[in-house]
Amino acid sequence: MLKDPFGRKIDYVRWSVTDRCNLRCTYCMPEEKMQFVDRKDLLSFEEMEQMLRVFEHVGIRKIRFTGGEPFMRKDIMRFFERVAASETIQEWHITSNGTLLRPHLKNLKKLGVSGINISLDTLSADRFEKMTKRNQFEEVQSCIQDILDLDIPLKINTVVQAKANFDELKALALLSKTQPIDLRFIEYMPFNGSDEEGRDFVSAQDILNELEKHFTLTPLQQKHGATSQDYSVEGFMGKIGVIAAHTRSFCGTCNRLRISAKGNTQVCLYGIENQSLGRLIKTNTTDQQLIEMLHQLIAKKPKNGFDAEAEMLRQTGAHKSMSAIGG
Ligand code: SAM
Ligand code: SF4
Repeated sequence: MLKDPFGRKIDYVRWSVTDRCNLRCTYCMPEEKMQFVDRKDLLSFEEMEQMLRVFEHVGIRKIRFTGGEPFMRKDIMRFFERVAASETIQEWHITSNGTLLRPHLKNLKKLGVSGINISLDTLSADRFEKMTKRNQFEEVQSCIQDILDLDIPLKINTVVQAKANFDELKALALLSKTQPIDLRFIEYMPFNGSDEEGRDFVSAQDILNELEKHFTLTPLQQKHGATSQDYSVEGFMGKIGVIAAHTRSFCGTCNRLRISAKGNTQVCLYGIENQSLGRLIKTNTTDQQLIEMLHQLIAKKPKNGFDAEAEMLRQTGAHKSMSAIGG
């Protein structure tokens, strides 16, 4: 079992299986000249299998697959078959932009995927194109409908920005009134802290205040390790959640480890990417060596995101794109 210096059990992995993406969400990556990882440096299918085996061994019970866009990987469904066959992974989820997913939904349902999160920041096709630099709004809408038709648990993630979509919170929340969709509003994480980015930031409290103008929200008990504070709304089929991604009010119960497409680890979203595991797995290493490395890395997990960020800025002076970290 993995335990950090603060006694927190680490049993949840967020795994970015590729840094590639077919969209260019303005808050996540630049429209042009995005520097992607060299293909040879991405984990191969076999290396991913070994990593999974090691995770099973150290007591990981839940995995969320993210990216980049997970379905940019041609072998991802084959890998999900391996995950579904695991006797120890109890839950596996996917976070996707919903543009490449539809052809795989029936198989994912058969494999028993625990749930799918789709990112959707607007209900306007024009805005969608502005925000993602691609014209894929209709495809995402169809994907959402197909997930509902297949009865796969669905969450919609919305990153809230002052200018881009704050005026749509009510309309987005209403999606969960008549359909079993959990809506989660995420605080935008301004990466370089420039004035321009700072002006677009909306705090979790402001998101909540805006929602409360339209709905009566009843707070629900927060699940262990959850980043989202969820609320029920009378008469709604789904829940509404707010994730204080930038304010970071959830670090105390953190149970997660992040792994990048190169196999590098990040013991905290706000901290430094550590290359030791990624380098090691590329050297035909044994499972035992990887297990030992994981224990060493978790032993350095910081107490919270503020400590982690301060250390990262001290060492590197910069933040990274979410597509590399996986959100
Ligand atoms: N491509 C997939 C998607 O968009 O769902 C998975 C990867 S994406 C990096 C994972 C999550 O991170 C998405 O919900 C996205 O909205 C969120 N995200 C990306 N950049 C962000 C930022 N600057 N602040 C807050 N959330 C962000
Ligand atoms: Fe791609 Fe997801 Fe980043 Fe948008 S948020 S650019 S869909 S990785």
